Amino acid sequence: MHIATRLAHAGLGEDPRTGAISTPIYQTATFAHPALGESTGFDYSRSSNPTRLTLEESVARIEGAHSAYAFASGLAALSTVLGLFSQGDHLIVAEGCYGGTSRLLDQVFARFGITVSYVPVMDTAAFAAAIRPETRAILIESVSNPCLWVPDFRALVALKTEHDLLLFVDNTFLTPYWFRPLEEGADLVLHSASKYLAGHNDTIAGLVVVRDAELAGRVAFLQNAVGAVLGPQDAWLTLRGLKTLALRLEAQQANALRVAQWLKEHPAVTAVHYPGLPDDPNHVRLGDLASGHGAILSFSVADAEQVGQLIARLRLIPYAESLGGVESLITVPAIQTHANLAPEERERLGVRDTLLRLSLGIEDATDLIADLAQALAAD
Ligand SMILES: *Cc1c(COP(=O)(O)O)cnc(C)c1O
Repeated sequence: MHIATRLAHAGLGEDPRTGAISTPIYQTATFAHPALGESTGFDYSRSSNPTRLTLEESVARIEGAHSAYAFASGLAALSTVLGLFSQGDHLIVAEGCYGGTSRLLDQVFARFGITVSYVPVMDTAAFAAAIRPETRAILIESVSNPCLWVPDFRALVALKTEHDLLLFVDNTFLTPYWFRPLEEGADLVLHSASKYLAGHNDTIAGLVVVRDAELAGRVAFLQNAVGAVLGPQDAWLTLRGLKTLALRLEAQQANALRVAQWLKEHPAVTAVHYPGLPDDPNHVRLGDLASGHGAILSFSVADAEQVGQLIARLRLIPYAESLGGVESLITVPAIQTHANLAPEERERLGVRDTLLRLSLGIEDATDLIADLAQALAAD
């Protein structure tokens, strides 16, 4: 079945008792047992809940995976799978990854003796050079934030196979609609479902998707042991979001391309990063890997003063963290998502104080362009 069909039918017809088309929200903590030593398959909602399980099974089908696990947030998902590692283990992580990811690694898991080397995302040789005897896994994002750099995914799959490492991919920016890393050789996919999958800027949720049974068993154990699970209401909202993912992403991507092309021609804009532009340095690499170029772009203006002016003048586009929802949102990475980095690291990652990141929603592109045009107009 095509991906759009799998998405639209997420959770459909999975309630044999009533035939409900929309998966019911099983707002229950516990389940009665039919007899001593028996179970309906559900005992206690931390271990498993029917609404959450429907979401997990739907996502596993959508990703072509062995199984999927739903968590209270993207970072709850990551915290849980970091429990696969032990004191002394070493990870190689793409530099400039999501700020919450590096904060969790450097300020929490480092205290438990898990060490990390950060390497430039596009430099495969640097990943190879960072491997040590105690290296267990590579963690990358399918597209980096905010400059939208793309790793050489296939080279990293070859590297992880050669050295018997696990490859974890945070695929939040591309979603399974455009890219399914497990089909390309990754071992585990992470999603902040708070972004495109739920898609309406109204839910915080995370997912882990696993290719093989052995690793799935270990993640299932950790999900129950750690207990950072997604509640049934938010599982339902995420399922509801999945149904329209294909439509939303097509509209959001079309808007991203329109706005990127327009920004590129604007005299006040000094640079535009969007892999969907044919002359973007990441266009070909992403096109080889994924069926879409995403709906996030970043752009620069000449000086930091203009950033404040632009934010103050925008009327339609809210100035807010997050991305992937039906409403466009704009952020200033240097003072928001990447504020915890040292200035020289921000410079290396292209996160200058003149850079803005725009997540495109499903509004009419002409309205978005009109809002940006009035905000960028010279006095
Ligand atoms: C938002 C985000 C996360 C964290 O997810 P939460 O749901 O906010 O915990 C992780 N990775 C990426 C790429 C993100 O954008």
